[in-house]
Amino acid sequence: MAITEDRVRTFDSTSPATGEVVGTFPVDGPEEVAAAVARAREAAAGWAGLGFDGRRRALLAYKALLVRRTDELVALVHRENGKPDADALIEVLMIVEHLDWAARNAARVLGRRRARGNLVLANHAASVEYQPLGVVGVIGPWNYPVFTPLGSIAYALAAGNAVVFKPSELTPAVGCLLADTFAEAVPAHPVLQVVTGDGATGHALCLAGVDKVALTGSPATGRQVMAACAERLTPVVLELGGKDAMIVDADADLDAAADQAVWGGMANAGQTCLAVERVYVVDPVYDRFLAKLVERAARIRPGGGPGADFGPITLPRQLEIIQRHLDDAFARGARALVGGPDAVRPPYVDPVVLVDVPPDALVMREETFGPVLPVTRARDADHAVALANANPYGLGAAVFAGRRALRIARALRSGMTSVNSVLTFAGMPSLPLGGVGESGFGRIHGPDGLREFARSKAITRQRFPLPFPMQSFDRPGYVLPAVKRAMKLRHGRAPRR
Ligand code: NAD
Repeated sequence: MAITEDRVRTFDSTSPATGEVVGTFPVDGPEEVAAAVARAREAAAGWAGLGFDGRRRALLAYKALLVRRTDELVALVHRENGKPDADALIEVLMIVEHLDWAARNAARVLGRRRARGNLVLANHAASVEYQPLGVVGVIGPWNYPVFTPLGSIAYALAAGNAVVFKPSELTPAVGCLLADTFAEAVPAHPVLQVVTGDGATGHALCLAGVDKVALTGSPATGRQVMAACAERLTPVVLELGGKDAMIVDADADLDAAADQAVWGGMANAGQTCLAVERVYVVDPVYDRFLAKLVERAARIRPGGGPGADFGPITLPRQLEIIQRHLDDAFARGARALVGGPDAVRPPYVDPVVLVDVPPDALVMREETFGPVLPVTRARDADHAVALANANPYGLGAAVFAGRRALRIARALRSGMTSVNSVLTFAGMPSLPLGGVGESGFGRIHGPDGLREFARSKAITRQRFPLPFPMQSFDRPGYVLPAVKRAMKLRHGRAPRR
């Protein structure tokens, strides 16, 4: 981020493919962030007051305007992030489904509903509802500059909150277009505010008294955000990195598995939190799978033109990380069946397929975020699961299998697993998305994602008083012994086998 020191500090966002300046944006400090939070808080009351129905209409209007702007959005994502138009379009397609789902399902998931009473409190009615938190701070990454932040923003808005959004310093133009489109579609309710800048602006947002912070980013940033939010006990939802595994079992469709491994590992140049970063294949089909994988991976090409399969590496320092992972793997005896030590050609990285990589190599342990696929032979499905689970990350996973598919999917330590496809769960709005371990905690998307941005509110209402009140200093002496006898009768017996 090149910063210019005028009266207002600004920074340029540039195209990773050409270096061309895409836009110039203010570096917002604590004062500007506080002002944005104040504007959001003022707007939040009117937005909450709209109710589920009013917000549904507003969010559907936003969705429709975004869809009409698809070409502009796709072109901007291509320029600012570098990914090919096709990858940018997939982002837009996926998030449109989420916006639609969040708008249409918020009332059902969060609306007031009756809760069942119990015998002791039979004279009380009960209900639960999910109320907005107030203002949510959303801090986004650059790798999916439309899909990832809107995955939090759509659900937070549908739950009745206002949002202050800090896009990545690498993709502020996309972030501003998302917010400008909202302002145009829903002019009466300025509940989507934007602040721009780098980590310091994000840090200021964590300290600005928002009611929750939703971060999508790296585990290192997750730790910093959580530490900053601890000061005010601001709750956090952390969608962090991954080292997702794919398992290929003996009865898998090997052509489909090879095709999906290449796409899951190399689409968007591997810069996907849910990218396939490790492949474990059971011994009986290892050689056949590998031959199919190598044939496919050798065919795809990075580039900046319309014919490229994937684009440049967006973050320049990521090139060093990818090179370090490759050097470390080769130093530990790995062999490349596609690509090799000189695959990194800034700003591009050619596809790499690695074998004979020891489990303690960097490329097996840490997020590579490049088009690099290490393939490992496993004795059987259980061995493959054990190898896949021996990693501190736990975001997504994929299984290619027949008979044992569901058993393997359930045994994998991950927030989501897709069977006979990759990443499918991210495009299915009714499913929650989030990780375990280093991949973070909390959930976006689906009913869990709506509840993540709401607080449950429980209400009991006494329908009629009991003749023998328990919760009173005027309680007659016989009440508690009678209740005790009733409790023993009802709960004191051991369950029958
Ligand atoms: P990053 O952690 O460097 O930055 C993410 C955001 O946090 C940026 O907006 C950045 O300015 C901000 N930030 C940085 N330091 C901060 C601080 N101290 N306080 C507050 N905000 C701060 O991540 P990135 O390089 O932009 O994105 C790539 C990472 O995001 C990868 O690890 C990837 O796996 C992860 N990711 C996760 C998901 C998911 O759904 N789990 C989705 C996409 C990306």
